[in-house]
Amino acid sequence: MRNVVIIGSGCAGNTAAIYTARANLKPLVVSGHEAGGQLSLTTLVENFPGFPEGINGPDLVHNMKQQAESFGAEYVHGTVLDTDFSARPFRLNLDGVWLDTRTVIIASGASARWLGLESEQKLIGHGVSSCATCDGFFYRDKKIMVVGGGDSAMEEANFLTRFGRSVLLVHRREEFRASKIMLDRARHNPKIRFALNTVVEEIHDVSKKLVTGARLRNVKTCEVWEEEIDGFFVAIGHIPNTNVFKGQIDTDADGYVLSKGGARTNIPGIFHAGDVQDRVYRQAITAAGAGCMAAMEAERFLEAEGH
Ligand code: NAP
Repeated sequence: MRNVVIIGSGCAGNTAAIYTARANLKPLVVSGHEAGGQLSLTTLVENFPGFPEGINGPDLVHNMKQQAESFGAEYVHGTVLDTDFSARPFRLNLDGVWLDTRTVIIASGASARWLGLESEQKLIGHGVSSCATCDGFFYRDKKIMVVGGGDSAMEEANFLTRFGRSVLLVHRREEFRASKIMLDRARHNPKIRFALNTVVEEIHDVSKKLVTGARLRNVKTCEVWEEEIDGFFVAIGHIPNTNVFKGQIDTDADGYVLSKGGARTNIPGIFHAGDVQDRVYRQAITAAGAGCMAAMEAERFLEAEGH
């Protein structure tokens, strides 16, 4: 019987682990297929307080894990396949083995959203990517396309100009969700061109298992044309990882966990932390704060139950 199982090992999960471990609750942290969360897919983080020179995302998240482990947190790599929150103790199926726990902190984050084109899905890992920091290195002096109009797309486009010869940023509207500073940075980058009011119809070439180009369509003029590219990066937001809690934990229409105040979900004893619930701020520091809140609530819940 566990006191606390934390699902997710990003900023939120690691912070919850530090706090619950220091409270002597010996938390078990399940790190899934995207261990370390989104920080592990980024480079320099300049806005996490306490690091005036900035810190590399993977280093930051690794430090957090080490900190949690030093207080007795246990990490296990695996996937939560199923959950039963209908009675206490709560039950989690971790790769086929059921675990019992008194509390759960859901810090499972959100995963990259894809366009959903068949050609895109077939070329993932063969020139199609959702992570510039992971794959940008392979596109030295190549032609790159980035899709999206938010901060992620601007950040990825700018980052990819370090490697690529040129970056074409494709966005389906004229208005951007990106913040002014990020957009301006992209606009002033001589290697970046913009294709606005434009959607991707197909990525070539599935038969060669290689990205060679993309067919684009201007939604206003209906013009259709081909662009030669070597790399295709999708940066159109994220989808919360809540499928496994469906029907048990209340979510909004997009699948984000609905907060019942503080870090509480609709089930007492199950708490949320980080991007799995937060569709507004989504920052490392807010996720860390949310992990702290969830840990403190789990601690108080257990104390009130006499554990
Ligand atoms: P986002 O702000 O939700 O933007 C997603 C973009 O993708 C939008 O421009 C959207 O277009 C487009 N999009 C969505 N679905 C699409 C589809 N099927 N086909 C084509 N385009 C599609 O997501 P994000 O850029 O990942 O940012 C998420 C949050 O993280 C934001 O709060 C952002 O500020 C933050 N962030 C901050 C930084 C930073 O400060 N360094 C870096 C990255 C992210 P529409 O606008 O037409 O809907």
